Amino acid sequence: MTVVLDHTAGKPRHPEKAHRPESAVLRKPDWIRVKAPVSKGYAATHAIVRENGLHTVCEEAGCPNIGECWEKKHATFMILGDTCTRACAFCNVKTGLPGALDPQEPVHVAEATQKLGLAHIVVTSVDRDDLADGGADHFAQTIRAIRARCPATTIEVLTPDFLRKEGAVERVVAARPDVFNHNLETVPSLYLTVRPGARYFASLRLLQRVKEIDATMFTKSGVMVGLGEERNEILQVMDDLRSAGVDFLTIGQYLQPTRKHHPVMRFLPPDEFEALKTVALAKGFLMVSSSPLTRSSHHAGEDFARLKAAREANRAS
Ligand code: SF4
Repeated sequence: MTVVLDHTAGKPRHPEKAHRPESAVLRKPDWIRVKAPVSKGYAATHAIVRENGLHTVCEEAGCPNIGECWEKKHATFMILGDTCTRACAFCNVKTGLPGALDPQEPVHVAEATQKLGLAHIVVTSVDRDDLADGGADHFAQTIRAIRARCPATTIEVLTPDFLRKEGAVERVVAARPDVFNHNLETVPSLYLTVRPGARYFASLRLLQRVKEIDATMFTKSGVMVGLGEERNEILQVMDDLRSAGVDFLTIGQYLQPTRKHHPVMRFLPPDEFEALKTVALAKGFLMVSSSPLTRSSHHAGEDFARLKAAREANRAS
């Protein structure tokens, strides 16, 4: 478990959570097993990330899959700086007042993508509610920079909701990523406690809007489970996402980053994830990834190939 204090700066990493009561931490079950980050591939990925002065959600969110992903040089870049303007109860990314945007960041992401030799890259970001366009133009610039340097690499963006700023989604779609992902994160009844700065229907509408602008663009969304949601609520989220035309659903176990974060209410066993996957596929998603360690960007390259194949198979049938 990570701590609330950022040791390097000596400042609270989550100032808004510093005075919250600490919650008890449930012991992780046996099925939450992760690979230690010790391989040569991990070290090489780490070096490339640092050389290019980039941030990754793999490190900032304390992702449990980092040992496995970085061994294969699969890193997910986090753009728009390392400081988030929101204060979601589940998230370990540093919060506070962000600095100025780095205009070189798009080029550095493209250079790192080339050095890592990525066939598929996932780019995500912090929330930047302080920017006039929520950071949409920076996303578009990053997509274009990667296309220019690595034309064979497919690009997946995992965006914030841009605080519903006009024209933001349109700007990102116009840069033509291959996959547009925006996570709902949880069920609507938990938004006020888990994702207080966001609105459930605004996030759904964002995903629907992507399909309205470009029906051929793959859309993807994800939820965490174990935050206290009811099963029926998850099934309702699936229906809502299908109504918005979303192609790919990811479902993973929520893990509590620190005692100040939202507690894990329950660890779902692997067979419950399998059952959710069966229901979701029956509801019409082209692809579903559902397991305790599923994360939006986990195996994203292999999953993108499967997503394309699933669309082709649907067309042929
Ligand atoms: S699952 Fe995604 S965020 Fe986690 S280590 Fe892998 S690429 Fe990074």
